[in-house]
Amino acid sequence: MISVRLWLKRAVMVSFMLCASMVPHSAAWAQDAPIVSKLSKNIYSIYWGFFNSLVVIGKKGVLITDPANNNRAAVLKAEIAKLTDLPVTYIVLSHEHFDHVGGVSAFPQAKLVAQKNIHAVLPLDPLDLAPDDIDITFENKYTINMGTTDVEMHFMGAGDGVATTVVYLPWEGVIFTADLYEDKRLTPASFLDDTNMLGVRRILNRIGQWPLKHAVTAHSKSTSPQILRDNIRYFNDLYDAVYPPIAKAAASDNPFAMFGLLDSLPGTVTLDEYSDWDGYEHLFGHVRRMALSIIHGG
Ligand SMILES: [Zn+2]
Repeated sequence: MISVRLWLKRAVMVSFMLCASMVPHSAAWAQDAPIVSKLSKNIYSIYWGFFNSLVVIGKKGVLITDPANNNRAAVLKAEIAKLTDLPVTYIVLSHEHFDHVGGVSAFPQAKLVAQKNIHAVLPLDPLDLAPDDIDITFENKYTINMGTTDVEMHFMGAGDGVATTVVYLPWEGVIFTADLYEDKRLTPASFLDDTNMLGVRRILNRIGQWPLKHAVTAHSKSTSPQILRDNIRYFNDLYDAVYPPIAKAAASDNPFAMFGLLDSLPGTVTLDEYSDWDGYEHLFGHVRRMALSIIHGG
């Protein structure tokens, strides 16, 4: 019999997912068929329910990223079973945000892997979405040999949240990130409160140096590295527009002058080159977050 607690947990998850999926499209998320893309030998991405996961089939098991929630985990599991009989043995969590860390119980043989800063946030979870523990944490870099290929986890500082992990397959030139950028779309301002825009810019500029054939990102269907390159340009242009007035104020005699720019800059900065991107009206939020990152680091 299903316990009240479990039922509540499921109900919360369904409503949580509905909220998340209403952000991009209010169209029904659950009716869409999963999109399974073969990126390389043994490497796939599976998009469903407004999330894209990386799937790496190894010799003895499968590595996946962010099942996200129980509904999605069930779909992922069914799609992976069409590709291989092997169980999921590793789940890499992209970062600590609760909408990305659920659904792991669908894969009982999997070890959870995450950057160690995840421990600063998971215990706060009031909705019981997060896993109780993480099996493997790492500081700056961790590599899993899957028998078929190597999967590297890199930490390059805060990005979206404090445990931002970049997953990289050096042999295939495939990368996975979450919540750092989207496909010609500005993330809604209401989702940026925990985004370190300086950190995101730094991570994107670094991974942009790597030879990539596919760049999977959590909320976009396309895996084209061109999307990443477009966003590197966007974050650099955003920084270049926001930094000079703050630097000028910081160099003035008034130590508080720069704080006023948090309110005034969002109404004045425009980046016309990106005006055709979805959600361009959220530029004010991006400007404000970039300004706050420049002023106090977070
Ligand atoms: Zn996030």
